[in-house]
Amino acid sequence: MKGKPILVANWKNKPVSLEEAGDILVGLKRKAQVFKKIKTFIAPPFVYFESVSEKAGGFARLASQGMPLVLSGVHTGAIIPEMLQSFGVRMAIIGHSEERELGETNELISQKVKVALKYAITPLVCIGEKERDHEGEYLEFLRKELKFSLEGIKRSHFAKATWDKKDEIGLMVAYEPIWAIGKSARNAMSPSDLAEMTVFIRRVLTDLFGRKTAEHIPILYGGSVEPANARFLMKESGVNGFLVGHVSLDAKKFAEIAKALI
Ligand code: PEP
Repeated sequence: MKGKPILVANWKNKPVSLEEAGDILVGLKRKAQVFKKIKTFIAPPFVYFESVSEKAGGFARLASQGMPLVLSGVHTGAIIPEMLQSFGVRMAIIGHSEERELGETNELISQKVKVALKYAITPLVCIGEKERDHEGEYLEFLRKELKFSLEGIKRSHFAKATWDKKDEIGLMVAYEPIWAIGKSARNAMSPSDLAEMTVFIRRVLTDLFGRKTAEHIPILYGGSVEPANARFLMKESGVNGFLVGHVSLDAKKFAEIAKALI
């Protein structure tokens, strides 16, 4: 796959205050040159959108944690895709295991993917097994999870599923084994296991969209990526980048991960 490696910061529901968010952004800005060498996205809580787009706009793109399904009408508490667009959101994390845990189904996820594509926002579709079994049933689980999360999505919906001249991406997949999330480098996947999973996921994407398109869909890994394991994971696994949770709140460490991608 052509194109720069991708690094996504998933801030989740952190930090707790705008002041702390500002501190993280100051730290990230100091390392702006590193982030510019790759494709860096920051997905903060909505309340920090303005701050992130103002302070990180020069070196990172704003991403959304999720994609609203309310498109019109009057709905208290709702956010609509145009609002995301107005902040320049280019990508949305969809189907994160923490959302799935709260009841988000593959069906809802595929609807959100469709909405994202309609609004020219790249969906980053997350999949991951809860645990592994010796019989390899988790592979079938993952195949179905990906297939049904992309149900009804056709190649033509993301015609720019390649790194085209404008460097746009149409669709991305994040493989995030749930057992590896939120721990430390010791609990992350080994590069060789991850290499197998990358091949497997690309095969599923090939079945869905054909080889040529599948080759151009970036596959990211997420689950306890740290400076200590980033380089090996990137070099030996065939992934195109990382989705990073807790370590993305530490500007210094996040920049070290970015360096490992260059
Ligand atoms: C995540 O939940 O998306 C994630 C990758 O978390 P962490 O890096 O904390 O494991």
